[in-house]
Amino acid sequence: MAYILTHAEFDTVLQRLKQDYILIGPVRKKNKGKFSDADLITYGQIESLSDLETNGKSQFSAKETIFPPSQTLFYFTEDEYREPKFEPQKQIVFLRACDFNAIKRLDLLFLENGQFVDAYYKRLREKTHFFVFGCEKSYENCFCVSTGTNQCEGYDAFLNFKGEKINLFPSEPFKRYFAGYEENEDILPQFIERNHIQVDIPEGLSTKIYDHPYWDQYGKRCIGCGRCNFSCPTCTCFTMQDIFYRDNKNAGERRRVWASCQVDGFTDMAGGHSYRKQQGERMRFKVMHKIHDFAKRFNMHMCVGCGRCDDVCPEYISFSQCISGLKGVVAHDN
Ligand code: SF4
Ligand code: SF4
Repeated sequence: MAYILTHAEFDTVLQRLKQDYILIGPVRKKNKGKFSDADLITYGQIESLSDLETNGKSQFSAKETIFPPSQTLFYFTEDEYREPKFEPQKQIVFLRACDFNAIKRLDLLFLENGQFVDAYYKRLREKTHFFVFGCEKSYENCFCVSTGTNQCEGYDAFLNFKGEKINLFPSEPFKRYFAGYEENEDILPQFIERNHIQVDIPEGLSTKIYDHPYWDQYGKRCIGCGRCNFSCPTCTCFTMQDIFYRDNKNAGERRRVWASCQVDGFTDMAGGHSYRKQQGERMRFKVMHKIHDFAKRFNMHMCVGCGRCDDVCPEYISFSQCISGLKGVVAHDN
């Protein structure tokens, strides 16, 4: 069941939704991109449909709406601590199918990963609803069809932009915001069916690949900047920072902040030890986590094929080419 609305009509629906929710989606920031005259598409609050940028891939993903880059876990003094008094507002997040599939991976990691439930994540997640919009075309470096994440279900609403019109598929609880508009039964959601890049994730990957010279090329090329991790919708590593206030050095707050497995210091331990000193080892860890380790626990690959790691890498390192090359290595060694 779908509603077919004009942009102005959907704007009316958005104004109704705004009475109950904060609206967040990709927004375009002029001249804030990686070159002086390039725009940045990132996540931000939207007031109307004209703020929502659907023509282009965002550099950052929607993960920051439920897993912020910096989050205070508790405040402390010398003799007590307390959690922040924080009641998140209800929010609707607009995102693409690959990114909605990435949210499912975050849910597994933060909510269903053994017995521990991450209360900070849960608090934001429970207040968040997702409106998925279909891609009108495949963008540079996307390979979501290969990872099976071009399609999705379980969203709160789905949108297909069709020129002057929008096909809208709201879930039952959100239909009340469409009151006054007519439903049409004959239309189904449309997902992108083809990317320019196809990736064949190798079967039979194992830890035998760890010591293979294949990874050495990345030791020479990767500069360990961590951009790939921060743009990735499924990277969830974080580190802790204790902040001590200037006016009272015995008081402060503990924050968790995003971390990157590619940067120096990520695996440093007390005593001066470090697990992965070479960039090639770090690349191996990242790749194996995305297309091997995660699936062993959760029966799905972590990577959703958004291609953002390729989009942002200053060294033009391609994740999809790395996977394709790996297939050849596995075939040769078996
Ligand atoms: S590894 Fe790269 S392609 Fe895969 S989900 Fe992360 S950013 Fe997207
Ligand atoms: S973005 Fe590229 S250069 Fe930077 S850490 Fe990732 S792979 Fe290495």
